[in-house]
Amino acid sequence: MSLVCERAEILGCRLDVVDMAEALQVVEDSIQRREPSQIITLNAEMVYRAQHDPRLIDLYSRARLVTPDGIGVVWALRRAGWKISRRVTGIGLTLKILDRAREKNWRVFLLGGEPGIAEEAARRLAESDRPLIVAGVHHGYFPDNESPRIIEQVRAARPDVLLVGLGAPRQDIWIAAHLEALGVPVCIGVGGTLDVLAGKTKRAPRVWRRLGLEWLFRLINEPSRIKRQLALPKFAWLVLTKVRGTGRRSRPQQ
Ligand code: UDP
Repeated sequence: MSLVCERAEILGCRLDVVDMAEALQVVEDSIQRREPSQIITLNAEMVYRAQHDPRLIDLYSRARLVTPDGIGVVWALRRAGWKISRRVTGIGLTLKILDRAREKNWRVFLLGGEPGIAEEAARRLAESDRPLIVAGVHHGYFPDNESPRIIEQVRAARPDVLLVGLGAPRQDIWIAAHLEALGVPVCIGVGGTLDVLAGKTKRAPRVWRRLGLEWLFRLINEPSRIKRQLALPKFAWLVLTKVRGTGRRSRPQQ
């Protein structure tokens, strides 16, 4: 029997009420079962976008796991009556998966970023004290008609985990469209994580993350993100006007 997580819904979008340890259990379970599965780390921008794109709502409902990535969705979950203490971000979960991959000799394929980024990330990951098995790499700037060739490359590399950093929602749409053809037990959209692993961009310092200000750190470092982040006040307004706690659902605080 596969692991079942508590499932919530925020503005029509499915979200699993999980912490990092539970998310990692799902990863392990999927690798043991060897069934292709998709993990989505959902943030407020993605929920807002889904309000205008029902395909995304459907895509989230079909994933193996949808984690609360971002302080906005954690706040919305709490407002809906769920007890949840922490986010499970794309980068946080990816780093844990990579640690576990070193222990368990899982094979990891890196797909995404500008040409050279996945190679550099792979080089750095192989350099560490406990090298990671990088089964293959490919950059993320390819037209749709190249997908079959890339899928073939991934299949031939037989990874246990596929990290896809094409930016949201493209990465999640791409994984969902090719999940069966890829045949990889764990496929996860990781946004700009490959850039961080390659040393091209920096992750927000711990104190900023603790304060839930990762979005502000990224905005300061990449001002062009302002356009996307304009969705955040609109998301907040929707949550304030539409999400109410029922008091029915609860879960021990961790
Ligand atoms: N990217 C890509 N192909 C594209 C567009 C973007 O590989 O066609 C990469 C980009 O180089 C970056 C990541 O996708 O590494 C996007 O990161 P972003 O910060 O937008 O994602 P987020 O972390 O916000 O989801």
